[in-house]
This record gives sequence, structure tokens and C-alpha cells, in this order.
Amino acid sequence: MTHLSPVAVYRVFVDGSSDQGGGRGSHLSPVAVYRVFVGQASCTPSSPRTSSLFIVGNKVFIRTFGCQMNEHDSERLTGLLESDGYETTPLLEEADVVVLNTCCIRENADNKLYGALGQLKSLKKHKPDLKIAVGGCLAQKDGDRLRERADHVDVVFGTHNLHRLSVLLDRANLHGPVTEIWAGPDGKAIPALSLPKRSKKTHSAWITIQRGCNNSCSFCIVPQVRGREISRPFEEILQEVADRAAAGVVEVTLLGQNVNSYGRDLTGRKPLFAELLKAIGEIEEIKRVRFTSPHPKDLRLETIDAIAETANVCEQLHLPLQSGSNRILAAMRRGYTAERYLERLDIARRRIDDLAVTTDIIVGFPGETEGDFEDTLAVVAEAGYDSAYTFIFSPRPGTRAAEMQDRFIPPDVVADRFNRLLAVTERSALEKNRSRIGRIEEVLVDGPDKKLRVQHEGLYSLGSVGRTRQGKLVHLMSSVPGTTVAAGAFATVRNIDAGPHHLQGEILSVAGKGERSLIKSTYPVPDER
Ligand code: SF4
Repeated sequence: MTHLSPVAVYRVFVDGSSDQGGGRGSHLSPVAVYRVFVGQASCTPSSPRTSSLFIVGNKVFIRTFGCQMNEHDSERLTGLLESDGYETTPLLEEADVVVLNTCCIRENADNKLYGALGQLKSLKKHKPDLKIAVGGCLAQKDGDRLRERADHVDVVFGTHNLHRLSVLLDRANLHGPVTEIWAGPDGKAIPALSLPKRSKKTHSAWITIQRGCNNSCSFCIVPQVRGREISRPFEEILQEVADRAAAGVVEVTLLGQNVNSYGRDLTGRKPLFAELLKAIGEIEEIKRVRFTSPHPKDLRLETIDAIAETANVCEQLHLPLQSGSNRILAAMRRGYTAERYLERLDIARRRIDDLAVTTDIIVGFPGETEGDFEDTLAVVAEAGYDSAYTFIFSPRPGTRAAEMQDRFIPPDVVADRFNRLLAVTERSALEKNRSRIGRIEEVLVDGPDKKLRVQHEGLYSLGSVGRTRQGKLVHLMSSVPGTTVAAGAFATVRNIDAGPHHLQGEILSVAGKGERSLIKSTYPVPDER
């Protein structure tokens, strides 16, 4: 048989009037979806999820706002669109479709999105066929209001129906702009999780174990846009981790809004997070397991023990404090006191050797007094964080905290507190990192370090960046001139310097990828003239 290359790809879909619910038109006879390769004698039925489209242009640019959960959703969107005949591009200017995967956790997320949409409006003027799709949390929250503010958007989709993006793009192509927001997930399944994925990294993967949140922190919009907690089946998670391990992944990060409560909806009572950590610990090829985020109120002793006793679970705990004042914690509806938080942290530190602890803190929550803020500083001093993400309170419409306008704190007071807190957390981070100078550590290399390079005989070679088991960023220079340590290799490193956000290491040896651990990395030195 002659193998002809496909000249064009058309997806042909005999559609009914409705495809609501992820299925097909109910009143029509079964429909098939075919990719028809011109010049080739076969038609391949595609996945039942696939939709129709007479593709005009198939290059997609995806931009992600927000957290790792959103990054992971973008991997799924990438996999979905590629399996439907699109090609992703890193270049906005060559895109036929732009997808913005949004976040609405903080106010500047709105500003960033509408700023980006403003730029896209000009692009669309010059390229009228460009299709713009906006999905994720902000789209879930704003729905049609999004198109009222930006009428050049073609598709608005939410957090529960991202698997429908190609159907919606088709509809927009055929019938014009479309908004589709689902109020909740479709039954107990998490449809998005069964989508194909396209990860940027081959050695490290995010694994979603849970979606949604049953808590009601007064500053947070997540429960409204992501819905109630749904845990993914235990065996399905293990299978995905095993599959990723077989494909070369050595590190997984388990994602959930509140990983500590993973499984409570499956058992009707008891969370299964500790069991999950131990089970993943049995998968030999996985050398590192991380997770984010655990809620302090749900950090159980059995989970602390599982971290301590499971060799591949890293010594890293992100435990969001939010405030050190019990009065503010109650107003935030966090479900713990500062004393209980510190007690759990103390247990974790005593049981898990060389544990690194990071946190999130909000400054200027409505009603926060100077005394409340000093309570936060006191807890921060006692906790001795390795790193802290500090945020200024920003009211999210639809949350309880946004209605507390009479207690909002003047911006200059908030700015002053923020700077004082930052000084303390930066000092603590620097002390923690400096205390590691001289230590020998295992670093999993993530990729080249474009900022770190050495020049040698008219060429320069790049350094690498990686992380220790504690999650600390390390800059490395290969000891072999002209080479860079490959992503996915493990380097044994001596720490020789430290800043608040990084370590610098000297490589003692490299392992993990055999001969491919060092890759050639020499580039002409740019002409400085
Ligand atoms: S635990 Fe609180 S802050 Fe975290 S997602 Fe749930 S409601 Fe939001």
C-alpha cells in the first residue's frame, strides 16, 4: 500500500441540534466522527468526545493564569485539542485559536485576564478569523458577563466542562459566540481527568487526586467555582501513577484543593490520603512524591506518619497559615487556632527528619488590628518557615469577606504590614537556606538554567536548575565543560551558597539517566558589539 501523507484533515460530524451533556443529539441516529485523510483510503472513527469542525486553521496558543491545578488543566486542554487535530504553538502571533485558562482567586487575576483580552482585541482586528476561548475559574464565575466586558470572545467555558472545548469551538465556528457553564460536575465522574494530557516535563507529572472543596473559608471563591469535593477513585490514581512511571516519570505531585481530606467522600467517613501516599510509595520507579495543598485542620497524625515512613515521599510540607490571630482565623472560617496549627507543625517536625515547611499568609483581612498582625508575626517566628507566600487581602465578589467593607483596612496600613511581614519571612528563608551550605544533597534536575552560563573559548554552556527533596531550588553548573545536566537526572550536589529563594550547588556526581545525564550544551557567545 502506498502511504500518502495526509493533505488535509477534516472532521465531519453529523450533528443533532443538541450536544448538551457531553453526548450527542438524542433524537438522531448514532453519529460517527471521522477524520478523513485526503488521498488515504481509510477513515478512523475518533473518540466519542470528539466533535465536528471544518478546520480553518489549527494552531492553538494556550495561556494559563493561576495555580498548579490550572496548569494541569491546561495540560489536559493541550492533550484534548491535539487529539482533535489541533497543533499547539508557543507563538501567539501564529495562533488561529487562543485559549485563556483563567483563575479568579485574586483580584489582579481579573486585571490580568482583561488586560490580555484587550491585547487580543487588537490582534483580532488584524486577524478576524482568530477564535478566542476563555475557560477556568473566572469564566465559571462570570459566565456571560465575561462576554459583556469582552465581546470579541468566541467561547466561554467553565471548570466542569473543559472536556467540551473542541465541541464549543466548532459551534462558535458554525454559529457564532457561545457560552457554556455547567453548575457542577457531570455525575460522580471527573470527566476532565480522563482527557489525554500533554506535559511539558517528561520526568515529573502532576496527578489530580481530588476536585472541589467542602470548606468555606470566607475569603475564597474556590468552592463556588470548583464545586464540592470529589475524590478520584484510589485505583485509578495508582494506575495513572504507574502509567506515568512506565513512561519515565520519576516525580509526581498530587494535586487537590484539600488533599488531606482525599477519600472522605469515597468511604463516607475516613480520608484515605495516608493510604494513598503509602500505596504510591510502593511504585518503585517513582523516586519523589509531593502534594499540595493540605489544610491544617485536616492534617492527621496518620498522614504525618505516612510522610515520615514512606521513603519516596519528600520532606516538604506546605501548610497554609493565613493568619496567626485566632480572632481573624475564626473570621476566615479556617477551623483551627494558632495553637493547634503550631502543635501539628511541631509533631510533623519531630516525626519527619529535615522537614521543610512553607506557608501562605494573608495580610489585611477585614478587621485585622495591629494586635492581630503581631500575633501573625509571632506565629511566623515560631514556625520558622523555609518560604512563605504572602498576599494582600483582595475581596473576591461573592465571598463573605467581600461583604465586610466596613472593616476593610486602609491600603497604607496594609502595605506597611505586608513589608514588615515580608522582611521577617525573607530573613527566615535566608537563614534556613544558609544553614544548608556545605550539605550534600540529591537534586532532581528540571532543565537548563538560562541565567547561569559560563564562557569558555568563544562558547558558553548553560547551567541547570533542579530541586532538593525539600523542594528548594538549586542552581548548578556541570563539572564537565560544554555540558548541561539533563532534565530528569539526579545530581549529587554540595551546597556552596544560598539566597532566600535558592541554593547554589557544586555537582559531585550525576545519575539517573545513564549516558544521557549530561547533554552537550555549547552555544556561540553572542557578539557584544
Ligand atoms: S480550604 Fe479554604 S482556601 Fe482552600 S480551597 Fe477550600 S475554601 Fe478555599
